[in-house]
Amino acid sequence: MTAGHATTVEAIVREFAADRTRLLDIIEAVQHQFGHVADNAIHAIATGLGIHAVEVEDTLSFYAFFDRQPRGRCRIRLSRTPISLMKGAQGVADAFTAALGIAMGETSPDGAFTVEWTSDIGMADQEPAALVNGRVLTALTPADVPGIVAALRQSGAADARLPNANIRSSLVQAGPVLSGELGGADIIRATLALPPEKVIEEITAAKLRGRGGAGFPTGMKWRLCRKAPGADHYVACNADEGEPGTFKDRVLLDEFPDLVFDGMTVAGYALGARHGLLYLRGEYAYMWDRLQRVLKSRRDRRLLGTAIGGREGFDFDIRLQLGAGAYICGEESALIESLEGKRGAPRDRPPFPTERGYLQQPTAVDNVETYACAARIMQHGAAWFTGYGTRESAGTKLVCVSGDCPRPGVYEVAFGMTVNELLDLVSAPEAAFVQVSGPSGQSVAPKDFGRRIAFEDLSTGGSTMIFGAQRDVLDVALQFADFFVAESCGWCAPCRVGTTLLKQGMEKIVAGRATLADVTATEQLANTVVRMSRCGLGQTAPNPILTTMRNFPEAYEARLQPGPFAPAVTLDEALREATSLRAHAPVTAEA
Ligand code: SF4
Repeated sequence: MTAGHATTVEAIVREFAADRTRLLDIIEAVQHQFGHVADNAIHAIATGLGIHAVEVEDTLSFYAFFDRQPRGRCRIRLSRTPISLMKGAQGVADAFTAALGIAMGETSPDGAFTVEWTSDIGMADQEPAALVNGRVLTALTPADVPGIVAALRQSGAADARLPNANIRSSLVQAGPVLSGELGGADIIRATLALPPEKVIEEITAAKLRGRGGAGFPTGMKWRLCRKAPGADHYVACNADEGEPGTFKDRVLLDEFPDLVFDGMTVAGYALGARHGLLYLRGEYAYMWDRLQRVLKSRRDRRLLGTAIGGREGFDFDIRLQLGAGAYICGEESALIESLEGKRGAPRDRPPFPTERGYLQQPTAVDNVETYACAARIMQHGAAWFTGYGTRESAGTKLVCVSGDCPRPGVYEVAFGMTVNELLDLVSAPEAAFVQVSGPSGQSVAPKDFGRRIAFEDLSTGGSTMIFGAQRDVLDVALQFADFFVAESCGWCAPCRVGTTLLKQGMEKIVAGRATLADVTATEQLANTVVRMSRCGLGQTAPNPILTTMRNFPEAYEARLQPGPFAPAVTLDEALREATSLRAHAPVTAEA
């Protein structure tokens, strides 16, 4: 690194006030400037922040979007998921590698291009999709690729000639939360008309539960957080929707950002917080400028900043934090670590974030959709909200539909809708199975299509992947197993090693080389990983395997090798027995 480069890094560190918690931003800015973060840049950052270089390296090495080594000036990341593959992503990948003369994962000799796979980028309804230096290209075909590459070559591997985020609106059906006037000042006025404790009572009376899938009562979380002692309280918004097949937060932040910021401001008032933090997944960087403009507009209208809504003493503002490609950061304590500029490793609990969260202060972490609901509750009242849904699951849910379906997109439906009703709504009545709540959720068979989308039955963060009869349920389970190998943070052995072994077990089964003993061993291992993993990722990673074993035993039987363990009992019976021996209830997506 030249003296000039060192000066640039120092200036970047100063731009972020040499604040250790802004390490992700600093690394991102350095990488943007130089294409990667070299050893001497690491040392310059460490010196500027007054920390050890190992700390910088610890963060840098954790995130998929950060590079220690030079990669292509143009970075093409193709989304690889069961949905993207069924929509033709492999053909698009082949077209890119042919046009660039390199294999997936490689960089061209002139340093112009890197093309590689990445996990879901939040475009499941518009696959195949790719990020090109952060810009989103959707509905790609192999025929599009030569033109894209030619445009990139013309601009010196910059993305300037590409369309900016050609994402179509994904909202197919709006319900009560996404219909009608956006409140803004009205919502803040209605909130300020109540004392903070009464706001929490209203949210509690509305029976609002977290929309990320776990369903923790929001009113209780806010009450615990408000009561917890601390010099500051924080409101955090989890917009790191990395669960494959989920894209509702994208729709909310693209089309209803004010509603989300309203909800965060309501929480700020209720909790007595002055600071809000919205953690935006790195794949949604294309929204950054627009969201900043929305925040500025809110400051101009005194909906953020000091004396909000004219109320002296109510000061609250929101900062955006960009993630860098780590699925685990959707786990709330990992998200907090990442907000502090560290690797996104989950924390031990207790203490819970409501007691000691961001900077060890009481913090309420809620989902994007939860804040949107909270805003509407303050606008229309708790009784209005409980008028929708079921007794235990009040309100509506944003469901993200993708896969073998002619009308993919986001549907706002009342809780309590059956899978059958949903399939009729989206014109996919012939579905062979539905993956509810993403890879960490459940593979639902037609015999269970009468089950309801609700916290008390099929709990979901929103991802709803539909698979037709032409799809191989075991192949899909294998792809999900592969996903968890890539996304395990590696902190604990049951998850780090277990996910790899599970993938190997599924590979053997899918290849038709497994005996009944192999299948049983895979199931036992899956239960061990559930039981012994430290956080929700490892505890739910075996779900695709366990739920397909439970719901599609015939698919496993059809692949079995006859052998010394050839069934005197059927696999179905073996699994039933194994399930009955488990010491806990069947695994759900709630972690
Ligand atoms: Fe990390 Fe997996 Fe352990 Fe969670 S369960 S801490 S993701 S290794």
